[in-house]
Amino acid sequence: MVAIIAISMPSRAEWFGDARPMMGTEVSVLFWHDDATLGEQLVEQVFAEAERIDRLMSTYIEDSRISEINRLAAQEPVVAGDELFQIIRRSLDISVLTLGAFDITYESVGQHYDFRNRQRPDDATVAAKRELIDFRFVELDQVKGTVFFQQDGVRINLGGIAKGYVVERGVNILRLNGVQHAIVTAGGDSRLLGDRRGQPWMVGIRDPREDGEVAISVPLENEAISTSGDYERYFVEGEIRYHHIIQPNTGAPASGVHSATVFGPDAVISDALSTSVFVMGVDQGLRLIATLPDYESIVIDDAGRIYYSDGLQPPDAQNPD
Ligand code: ADP
Ligand code: MG
Repeated sequence: MVAIIAISMPSRAEWFGDARPMMGTEVSVLFWHDDATLGEQLVEQVFAEAERIDRLMSTYIEDSRISEINRLAAQEPVVAGDELFQIIRRSLDISVLTLGAFDITYESVGQHYDFRNRQRPDDATVAAKRELIDFRFVELDQVKGTVFFQQDGVRINLGGIAKGYVVERGVNILRLNGVQHAIVTAGGDSRLLGDRRGQPWMVGIRDPREDGEVAISVPLENEAISTSGDYERYFVEGEIRYHHIIQPNTGAPASGVHSATVFGPDAVISDALSTSVFVMGVDQGLRLIATLPDYESIVIDDAGRIYYSDGLQPPDAQNPD
């Protein structure tokens, strides 16, 4: 945990921050500010914003707006509210971009997994429900601001994009309040503002199979970085690791990749793209990233091999021996 620093020194610039369990993971914030009272208030504002977004977008909260949509939208169009509507719309855009690798209706099958309790759907359930994974079943009415599901049984879940939104909004609050150096992180998603006062922020990509080890450190400024891994939420049964990133075609956990990292200007996009590249695999995933000039990617496959997108210089190319 990052402690709140310098509560009693009003006019001295310091790092402020905290880390709290939230959204089924840890949310943390760290920034440079020259006013202790304001600094502390800003910490609280960022966490309050994360809390607010979670209450809107979490399927684990029964009276969240998204849970209401999941209950009702196959019967009638449901008003989403502007913010949720925009995130759903952006999710559908990314489905088009990724040819369906990113698909919030994965939840039609995903709702039958419970990783904490080692529960998974049986083969018959997967076979029946995977037909309901298709983002084209989600119909948006831009004028009325409503969401409608064209099939009974369709469910949506924003777990692959909401944390990117949280860190983007968190950094925005800080920026609007004059902060120039900050990092806001939610699970595998980070948004950076400026640098770390004279040096880049170093963001570690975890070794997918060595707990607590960093495989690669990436120096970044003013960017967003997201990692999707099969180590975040999973259980192992026999030889198979059942984890939380679902291949929409099959309704089963995606295989071939252990972690996919994407970085670029926007955390909402990097979050959705890291999930997408994980699902698409090394070749297809990196080919997609090559078409997006602002985004780069680092993929670790199931043999532990590391792949870099075209715009990156791998560490051994920088220091040939
Ligand atoms: P995390 O930071 O939790 O690892 P990711 O960005 O890797 O988050 O997204 C994983 C989450 O995305 C899953 O927990 C699930 O909620 C959601 N998800 C799983 N498969 C898909 C998919 N094919 N398309 C969109 N979202 C997905
Ligand atoms: Mg993601």
